[in-house]
Amino acid sequence: THESVLLPGSTMRTSVDSPRNMQLVRSRLLKGTSLRSTIIGVIPNTSDPTSDCDDLPNLHRIGTAALAVQVVGSNWPKAHYTLLVTGLCRFQILQLLKEKPYPIAEVQQLDRLEQFTNGHKSEEELGELSEQFYKYAVQLVEMLDMSVPAVAKLRRLLDNLPREALPDILTSIIRTTNQEKLQILDAVRLEERFKMTIPLLVRQIEGLKLLQKTRKSKQDDDKRIVAIRPNRRITHGSITEDEEEEEDHDDVVMLEKKIRTSSMSEQALKVCLKEIKRLKKMPQSMPEYALTRNYLELMVELPWNKSTKDRLEIRAARIVLDNDHYAMEKLKKRVLEYLAVRQLKNNLKGPILCFVGPPGVGKTSVGRSIAKTLGREFHRIALGGVCDQSDIRGHRRTYVGSMPGRIINGLKTVGVNNPVFLLDEVDKLAKSLQGDPAAALLEVLDPEQNHSFTDHYLNVAFDLSQVLFIATANTTATIPPALLDRMEVIQVPGYTQEEKIEIAHRHLIPKQLELHGLTPQQIQIPQVTTLGIITRYTREAGVRALDRKLGAICRAVAVKVAEGQHKEAKPDRAEVGEGEDCKEHITEDAKPESISDTADLSLPPEMPILIDFHALKDILGPPLYDMEVSERLSQPGVAVGLAWTPLGGEIMFVEASRMEGEGQLTLTGQLGDVMKESAHLAISWLRSNAKRYQLTNASGSFDLLDNTDIHLHFPAGAVTKDGPSAGVTIVTCLASLFSGRLVCSDVAMTGEITLRGLVLPVGGIKDKVLAAHRAGLKRIIIPQRNEKDLEEIAAHVRQELTFVLAACLDEVLNAAFDGGFAAKARLEHFNSKL
Ligand code: ADP
Repeated sequence: THESVLLPGSTMRTSVDSPRNMQLVRSRLLKGTSLRSTIIGVIPNTSDPTSDCDDLPNLHRIGTAALAVQVVGSNWPKAHYTLLVTGLCRFQILQLLKEKPYPIAEVQQLDRLEQFTNGHKSEEELGELSEQFYKYAVQLVEMLDMSVPAVAKLRRLLDNLPREALPDILTSIIRTTNQEKLQILDAVRLEERFKMTIPLLVRQIEGLKLLQKTRKSKQDDDKRIVAIRPNRRITHGSITEDEEEEEDHDDVVMLEKKIRTSSMSEQALKVCLKEIKRLKKMPQSMPEYALTRNYLELMVELPWNKSTKDRLEIRAARIVLDNDHYAMEKLKKRVLEYLAVRQLKNNLKGPILCFVGPPGVGKTSVGRSIAKTLGREFHRIALGGVCDQSDIRGHRRTYVGSMPGRIINGLKTVGVNNPVFLLDEVDKLAKSLQGDPAAALLEVLDPEQNHSFTDHYLNVAFDLSQVLFIATANTTATIPPALLDRMEVIQVPGYTQEEKIEIAHRHLIPKQLELHGLTPQQIQIPQVTTLGIITRYTREAGVRALDRKLGAICRAVAVKVAEGQHKEAKPDRAEVGEGEDCKEHITEDAKPESISDTADLSLPPEMPILIDFHALKDILGPPLYDMEVSERLSQPGVAVGLAWTPLGGEIMFVEASRMEGEGQLTLTGQLGDVMKESAHLAISWLRSNAKRYQLTNASGSFDLLDNTDIHLHFPAGAVTKDGPSAGVTIVTCLASLFSGRLVCSDVAMTGEITLRGLVLPVGGIKDKVLAAHRAGLKRIIIPQRNEKDLEEIAAHVRQELTFVLAACLDEVLNAAFDGGFAAKARLEHFNSKL
């Protein structure tokens, strides 16, 4: 065998797989019938076990005769036998008789012989040795746990067995290396054997003592492990485990202390203490252990009673708001009112503010400014696309992977109980099978209820009444009514071009410069350029795309500055002279040269890089939007309408054409039902008034649809359009088609129509007017009853536009066509001439 050394008196399990040994097992152990045939010689294989070749290895001089108690055969992982053998006595090989099929040798029994021959020789000496040995052995065994049956048995054996057998037996029990065992095996003389075993015993005793010292406070269970397996490796392992356990135990104690000292509500404290009691009893290998611990840690971390002190001073707040944001007067006024009331009356149960407006108009950044003025923490919770109510309220802890909702998570992040929470995009909450998150928000936002908001994960109430909630949305249309009811909507309209220029120069450009590590000395963006970016590279209500474009410009300039190359770049017109008038109509080739000449002469190399239209074109590419209105209106059958979308106002073209057919109306361009109805209304009204306006079809008949098909198209077909406000535009467009006259190129209109030709008011006037202004239109036709909405529009925009307030379609048509639209009286006069 090469696994270990069998000593007389001990039992060992050994596996046999070499062909030679297999043969031995097969022909001797399995076939033999007498007791003799079950006795084999077990000789330790001292040579290298891997070189197990056919040749019989050099046999160790001494072996142990063993009784094979059990033989188990197996075929996995390869054919082998497992033998259970009990050592009987030592033997010495005298002569090898046969090697094959298995070795047979003539042997001499050693142990007993020795006893007979040498036994009485040095009796006294031996007696002393054996006495000493016995003492150590007893000491060792007594250090072990007597309650374990095996140990008790060993203790009894110590007394009953002849002393001579003890060294062998104990050596095989205590932890020794094979080498040491081999030495014991070789120690044929009893005296020698005792002498060699004593140090081993002493070593084991010392080891145990050390162990017991380190783990005085250990539980009985642990002792048992050590006792049964006095194996250094294992006991060593158990030490580290114990340390860990102790550490964890400390942690739990710490946690408990934290819980007791934290200022959580009474209810929460009760729950936590119950949980910690459970935690203490739980083995930490249990998955629930980690869960409970996470829960308790969260509970401790939550800001139950921690808050920042409000430093609210309305005058300072006004300054902060004005500094951070240009324009948005109405919004700022309302926010200041809100803050003023808060200053007067602490613990305001006021409504939740909800800013509604197109993207990029600064809703989020106003929220941030409010937090700044109050000196509170700010946390943004993006709700766009959230469709699971447990996102708001958390999962119950019974779920796998459960977590608290975003509100509680946010509180944990900010670490105080009175932050400003910005609920971004509340209009984009979705519903799904996992429940309605909007309904969960109701509880959060209701000032009457949210002092006891219960997150499913926490399962105890948390007071949210100190939190200042602000919501933002692009449109109120998709906010569930119940939620909308709890909020005070403040409309944030888009900006005019002038406002955008101011915002760009006051806020966006300095911000972008800082972001790109540029200084105002390195780059100069004149206002005309900003206007150019606004009109030709962006078309939006807010300033986000403008911000991006400015970022792109800064990047390009940063490259130039970093390369120190802006001198070479001059021929590319990346920079031009100071104070240059950069109008579009600059002739392409004449100007740049002179500019670069002057630049070369008059400016030092580190002059600011000036961004003009040419540079714009280089950096941003060709303009994305053109002033296309007048071009498009060069044919009859086209009119400009104004539409409102969540992204702000937009101008919208309506095109119509007619062809021979059977009186069909075709509508294209992704229209909603309301829009289709408007188209039908428009046609009906025109048909019924055809005579009055002298409108005819292609063949000159007043029955407009006679032998005629009409096709109405609303370009930009990818966007679904709906709403009643296109009514007047469709009428104008068709009137132009049937009369063959052109609609004025600078007119835009909006308004709902009735079958009787009245014009009804519509919403979103401010956004629409701004869109028309952006697009460079001059005259705007709006319903008369929308007159009050004009007050909201900045004075300078109003001055640049002419508003026509129309109560009926006659007025609309009159205003839409140059020289007015042929009225009945004139037509009759005309007719009479014919
Ligand atoms: P929203 O939340 O409305 O979509 P943001 O608040 O994210 O828009 O605003 C986009 C960017 O525009 C921000 O960097 C903000 O600083 C800037 N901004 C918008 N409006 C103004 C303004 N009136 N004054 C200064 N910066 C503004």
